[in-house]
Amino acid sequence: MALFSKKDKYIRINPNRASREKPQAKPEVPDELFSKCPGCKHTIYQKDLGDDHVCPNCGYTFRISAFERLHLTVDEGSFEELFTGIETKDPLNFPNYRDKLAATRQKTGLDEAVLTGTAVIKGQKTALGIMDSNFIMASMGTVVGEKITRLFEYALEEELPVTLFTASGGARMQEGIMSLMQMAKISAAVQKHSQAGLFYLTVLTDPTTGGVTASFAMEGDIILAETQALVGFAGRRVIESTVREKLPDDFQKAEFLLEHGFVDAIVKRGDLRATIGSLLAFHGGEV
Ligand SMILES: [Zn+2]
Repeated sequence: MALFSKKDKYIRINPNRASREKPQAKPEVPDELFSKCPGCKHTIYQKDLGDDHVCPNCGYTFRISAFERLHLTVDEGSFEELFTGIETKDPLNFPNYRDKLAATRQKTGLDEAVLTGTAVIKGQKTALGIMDSNFIMASMGTVVGEKITRLFEYALEEELPVTLFTASGGARMQEGIMSLMQMAKISAAVQKHSQAGLFYLTVLTDPTTGGVTASFAMEGDIILAETQALVGFAGRRVIESTVREKLPDDFQKAEFLLEHGFVDAIVKRGDLRATIGSLLAFHGGEV
């Protein structure tokens, strides 16, 4: 008995197709199906990145949106958003700033560069802030400053810990000096929260730079970082041209900061939720 059978003895080739037809144009592949990994330079099928958005080949941790972060981090359905609808006064009357904000809101679904509220993580209730680099590079203007300040004030009143995922390109230039003043304003709220004996956890994500690093990102009781996250104050080129020295390749990477004592631990994205849950429980989080 034959195990396999063929209907035709030979494969038929359509002579028109094989020899006369011009080669077909390259099939179009939608961009969103594949990503080039900045870590290993391989082309990765989006689905292989999984919910975590971590390269299966080299472990490179892709940037994710605040909503994706929320989905990965909090107990399902537990997030309650707070402090929405705060508008900038556009203190410098900066050209096209309001239009840019409107377009970015539309694009990201966020009302500003930080999402704030309360959530439960592995059974532990916390005040939660998530900055999103898709929103004008998560630059810190007056609204970001106000939302994070209110988050700390609310946490103080409700005796909650604060968990904050930081990301930022620095101060928002469209709001000039008003942006820089947010560093002091938030830091004062962080201090009051701390003096009440409440716990503040920061998770530095790629990239956390400028005034955010120089203030509340580095004021956490415990500071975690994501793998390979860029964390620094001034940019690499600015520092190199100031000190006139070549800086190490991994300068301003989370691993370099860990080695030099600025970061308590680097946690893989897949382990973050459990780690945060344990830290909140250990430091007296409430259900
Ligand atoms: Zn990779």
